[in-house]
Amino acid sequence: MAREFPLERYRNIGIMAHIDAGKTTTTERILFYTGAIHKMGEVHEGTTTTDWMVQERERGITITSAAISAFWERTGQRYRVNIIDTPGHVDFTIEVERSLRVLDGAIAVFDAVNGVEPQSETVWRQADRYKVPRICFINKMDRVGADFEMSVGTIKEKLGARPVRMQLPLGSEDKLKGVIDLVRMKALVFQDGEQGSRFDIVDIPADYQDAASAARGELLEAAAEQDDALTEKFLNGDELTEEEVRGAIRKGCVGLKLFPVFCGSAFRHKGVQPLLDAVVDYLPSPLDIPPVHGKTPKGEDAVRETRDDAPFSALAFKIMNDPSFSSQTLTFLRVYSGKLEAGTAVWNSVKGKRERVSRLVQMRADKKDELTECYAGDICAVVGLKLATTGDTLCDDKQPVILERMEFPEPVIDIAIEPKSTADQDKIIQALQRLAMEDPSFRVRTNEETGQTLIAGMGELHLEIIVDRLLREFKVDANIGKPQVAYRETVTGTKDAEGKYIRQAGGKGQYGHINLRVSPNEPGKGFEFVNSITGGAVSKEFVDAAR
Ligand code: GDP
Repeated sequence: MAREFPLERYRNIGIMAHIDAGKTTTTERILFYTGAIHKMGEVHEGTTTTDWMVQERERGITITSAAISAFWERTGQRYRVNIIDTPGHVDFTIEVERSLRVLDGAIAVFDAVNGVEPQSETVWRQADRYKVPRICFINKMDRVGADFEMSVGTIKEKLGARPVRMQLPLGSEDKLKGVIDLVRMKALVFQDGEQGSRFDIVDIPADYQDAASAARGELLEAAAEQDDALTEKFLNGDELTEEEVRGAIRKGCVGLKLFPVFCGSAFRHKGVQPLLDAVVDYLPSPLDIPPVHGKTPKGEDAVRETRDDAPFSALAFKIMNDPSFSSQTLTFLRVYSGKLEAGTAVWNSVKGKRERVSRLVQMRADKKDELTECYAGDICAVVGLKLATTGDTLCDDKQPVILERMEFPEPVIDIAIEPKSTADQDKIIQALQRLAMEDPSFRVRTNEETGQTLIAGMGELHLEIIVDRLLREFKVDANIGKPQVAYRETVTGTKDAEGKYIRQAGGKGQYGHINLRVSPNEPGKGFEFVNSITGGAVSKEFVDAAR
């Protein structure tokens, strides 16, 4: 069997947002429209109207999987869009990190009333660190107080990034009708009903023309800057073609020079299909990003090209228990090079052991596809692996490599835990060890003095979820003690000359947290620095002040 899609038609993306900005709703809409497309097989674009066949009733699709594959059609070609789950809560920074490691591009969703919020800032800076190209979606344009220009302004001011408006909203609040496409210079008016699956492409209304021309001027300038030939054309006053504009903005976006901005309301079904077009137009394919690096067992540098005929290498980025697979383990992989075939053995170069891959699957919104092979650039899950833990490299045993490891922060908070029934003592330990295998920022320890079992994680919410999973998945009801904090201080301020964050009263923004633990060596004598979850290092003065 050969690969169904050429590599340039893959997009591995994440959707990142502050909690409540609309990540789930946007993801659901994306799955809905891409599901509709898949059912229909083909889409014909008419002159003024685009028709989309929809299912009669919208399903309540939520992402419960680490990665879901969807398909989108753009200019007559089918694209495979793998959506990698990217949590928005700061306590799950670790989850964010691991998804950022394996995706190639992202949609950053913002709430049009609030613009950039503290958590979107934290996630944005993590994405900077992993050099992830992003497009921005200013969601909730239907809300009272929605302000597109303010929101775009906060991307500039708070994130220090260069937003480029690709659209303007057509109306806002309860008068939101759709979006103005500044590349085509047309208005897209979404029809009510049918879940926004139909929209008309019409001329820009007269009262929007000035604003649209001004915004388009900036867009063209940004496009022209990305390419010498275009700069010349632009300076000569020649019209750039749509293709030239898209190509140049793509180049700027992939090169992290600029961030294209779109808008709409996921909830009201307005603007999501053009956002999917933008995923294809502006976010990188696996071929647009540098090949993955690693080390050979001898410690030499190794590069694995993104090609099917290169030696196989993949990174395990999430381990999940899937109830619909009789609770078998699903190990999600990003394949970087070569191909993985079901029924063959792979080498786990971190554990130094071989394991057989019996079944390969790919998740879809409503089903699973069985695969015989998975190729470079794709995401899949192996059913039933026993050894692999998050962050492990699986590879060709003749050409072993250990891919660059993911960075996992140390846990910052401890709680004592014990089963409600002592008969469950062994069961609880087994369950906790299993959870620790899935989640590298979760640890199980024993308090040497009291013999109590302690669980450690990234925050109270993180540990609450673990306790909840113990009950639901492992049927162990547990009592937990008080969290042994860990003191958490929010980092606000500016950077000093060395680029470290320094505290400043009324500082410009929130950048994350620093975590301190009660000093185990000198109980009662203050805190010890554990780590910081920020977009950069924290100055010593800051840590001392927090202590
Ligand atoms: P998440 O926390 O980022 O995943 O956000 P959700 O998708 O769960 O959305 C949070 C809340 O905002 C929910 O009540 C949604 O119904 C609502 N919401 C999402 N998108 C929109 C939108 O475009 N307009 C309005 N008015 N509400 C929205």
